[in-house]
Amino acid sequence: MAAAFLMEIRRATQSALLVVRSSAPRQLLPEAYPLLFLRSAAADIPSAPVEVSVCTDSLEVRSGGSCDAAALPAGVSLAPSSCRGLRRLRGDGLHLRVRLRGPPPAADVVFTLRESLKPNKNYIFYCQSCGDIVVSDRKFLRVLPLPSENWSDLVEDWCCHPDPFAKRTLHPQHGDCFLGDTFLLLDSRNESHVPESPVCCSDAAHCVSQSDSNLKSKEDTRVICKRCKTMLGETVSSGTIKYYVTEVVIQSAEGGFSPTPRSQFVQSIVAQCLLELSSAKSTFRFTIKGDNGKTYILIWLLNSDTLLVESLGSSSSHSDFTLFGDILTPSSGPVGSWNALKVLYQPCIQCRNKELADAWEDDMGVHPLKFPSETCLELLLILGLSTTSLPPSLRCMNSFQVAFLKM
Ligand SMILES: [Zn+2]
Repeated sequence: MAAAFLMEIRRATQSALLVVRSSAPRQLLPEAYPLLFLRSAAADIPSAPVEVSVCTDSLEVRSGGSCDAAALPAGVSLAPSSCRGLRRLRGDGLHLRVRLRGPPPAADVVFTLRESLKPNKNYIFYCQSCGDIVVSDRKFLRVLPLPSENWSDLVEDWCCHPDPFAKRTLHPQHGDCFLGDTFLLLDSRNESHVPESPVCCSDAAHCVSQSDSNLKSKEDTRVICKRCKTMLGETVSSGTIKYYVTEVVIQSAEGGFSPTPRSQFVQSIVAQCLLELSSAKSTFRFTIKGDNGKTYILIWLLNSDTLLVESLGSSSSHSDFTLFGDILTPSSGPVGSWNALKVLYQPCIQCRNKELADAWEDDMGVHPLKFPSETCLELLLILGLSTTSLPPSLRCMNSFQVAFLKM
């Protein structure tokens, strides 16, 4: 449709903010069914008046001789008579709030890695970027969650005697899969059954066999996809490989590999990490750190009950995703809908926001999440594209930038 719209539905309050934007450079003079009739004295002239109709299951925008209609996703039902707070913001378009007639359809249950990885089942790990097999047909006897990254700090705080675990790291044995916040640890010593696809380059394997972690340079420990050279993880010690959850797709051996566009995969996986940690630890602030130790982004999780409904037509957010080579298919006719996390963020690259980053660094209430540095930059780009796709008045909050991570 020529007039794009964005609807931010909150499940908790069963209410929605609707922003109707006109992509054509014309003034928006709205009428909204059934209560709202607004034909403002046009200060900036002249363009055809635009008439907006809010129906229970659709939106209609009429202008001149044309009419754009968009059906809302199944199960989303508006109460038109509840339209309130109509206002027109220059550069944004028309804002109004409307209540829902009932709860929107339940969010699809997202199976996190923790829930979907089961012992005694066979799994194949694929490179997310190119689909090459990274670990073929592996059966785990144990799938265990790891304590958080800074667990040894906590032990130090709790113990009145020296930390008994000092300098001891947790190593998976054969048949183990350990799950961290953003990674999996696998035992890699028994890889002889996958000769066609060794998991790390021979240099790294050679270095590890010296089992002197101090001598290993960072570059040597990187585990790289053989085919596309994407960094998948690191060798953390002799015989132990860490795979980042943003870089590998884990499928049961019976299922096949179905590629997901990179930007969708990254934002969905990062959203899952934020969601899981926020519900498990009541942590809402996160630092996104690269494998080089640098902080790339500060993220503040604002809410996780958003259902985002967008017209797909000319919305800039979608054409932008061609940057990643993504092809988005609308889930229901001319509109797309996503369960999304609303986040505030600050980029920290090129020394931006250094003071705040330092303050968060020292704050025990902030949880660090580590990913490959390239992925941190991808995530920053995804957040930036999400921000610029929003109406200007919604892009900023308390000096933070606003973005949605679609699940
Ligand atoms: Zn690859």
